[in-house]
Amino acid sequence: MAAPTWVAVPDDSPFGVHNLPYGVFTTADRPRERRIGVAIGDHVLDAGAAARAAGAGPEAGLLTAPTLNPLLAAGRSAWTAVRSLLTAWLTDQAHRPAVEPHLLPRDSVTPHLAFDVADYVDFYASEHHATNVGRIFRPDVEPLPANWKHLPIGYHGRSGTIVVSGTPVVRPNGQRRGAGLSAPSFGPCERLDFEAELGFVVGGPTAQGEPVALAEAEEHVFGVCLLNDWSARDIQAWETVPLGPFLGKSFATSVSPWIVPLDALAAARVDPPPHDVGILPYLDDRGAGTPPRGLDIAVEVRLRGEVVSRPPFSTMYWTYAQMLAHMTVNGASLRAGDLFGSGTISGPLREQRGALIELTWNGEEPLVLADGTKRTFLEDGDELVISATAPGPGGTRIGFGEVAGRVVAGPEPSVN
Ligand code: CA
Repeated sequence: MAAPTWVAVPDDSPFGVHNLPYGVFTTADRPRERRIGVAIGDHVLDAGAAARAAGAGPEAGLLTAPTLNPLLAAGRSAWTAVRSLLTAWLTDQAHRPAVEPHLLPRDSVTPHLAFDVADYVDFYASEHHATNVGRIFRPDVEPLPANWKHLPIGYHGRSGTIVVSGTPVVRPNGQRRGAGLSAPSFGPCERLDFEAELGFVVGGPTAQGEPVALAEAEEHVFGVCLLNDWSARDIQAWETVPLGPFLGKSFATSVSPWIVPLDALAAARVDPPPHDVGILPYLDDRGAGTPPRGLDIAVEVRLRGEVVSRPPFSTMYWTYAQMLAHMTVNGASLRAGDLFGSGTISGPLREQRGALIELTWNGEEPLVLADGTKRTFLEDGDELVISATAPGPGGTRIGFGEVAGRVVAGPEPSVN
């Protein structure tokens, strides 16, 4: 456990010295200069400026970049070295005179997407979510597909529309077919939903043809962010068969500005739920002599300011190591800046469901908010905020901040 920091950090801050999440920011006086920042308490450390002032060695170049990508590319040994440096700067009084001038009030900076997203994959790793969706859409058959417990199901998404928290989410237009109709119509999505997920940020590139074994997962997973996989359920339902998610998902995916290092989550590791079906050896990490890969992360979802769900990430069936091993087992390579989403996080209870489609059972059971507002799906003006915390060392909490997005009306559909 690190020594106390000399920075004044409020007791209830999600960003104590044991967290040190990474982001990228600009300031009002230098709006075009993107800089790497590390959140601590109510401040952001300008990490590049601190590196120069503290006389950092080879790691300084990784912190003076305008994105996290060079750091991501540098791999695990560099991640450990940089985190040790940051911890030393913020805990050792000897560094204080050089480092302190580079602390900025966190509410004075503008956060940006912290890394250029390379390839983006979204998984479907919650048994409760997959079961609920199966019951809604296939009520007469087994809710889980035959493959579900043998491999973590996923799809390749659109990295170019991943946006940072706070970016407005424009309601998409598209084809959808109303109930009982034989032909589709075109227009604004009528069933806009969120999906509360975690995103895993990947570094340490690999060559094509080199699978990442379970034991190597920590060499490639840099950190964890919050992710909202905005979903147009009506567009999705009409287009998905037989090739999977496409325009119903690709219009926007929001992520939190702060990337919590995997190293900050050591105290959050828990055993994932047991597998009740045998799995192939490349996905079987039981008894591998490594720390458990389940993560005790408590997620909270607020709609129009009101908590509507508290999904527990500890209930996820597939771990990040299994997702990464499966994603690369065919020889697909990794690039620095790859991102994979966990899939909607849903627990066993109604109030733990991580999407409106489950919370309202496909619109049949509207949510009623405290002010009497009813919701089946999202309306223009609605703001959706996802936050999360996890256990840190010595009874502390590790916070993820939040990913927020407000739905705005889209362009009038063209008659052309
Ligand atoms: Ca998803």
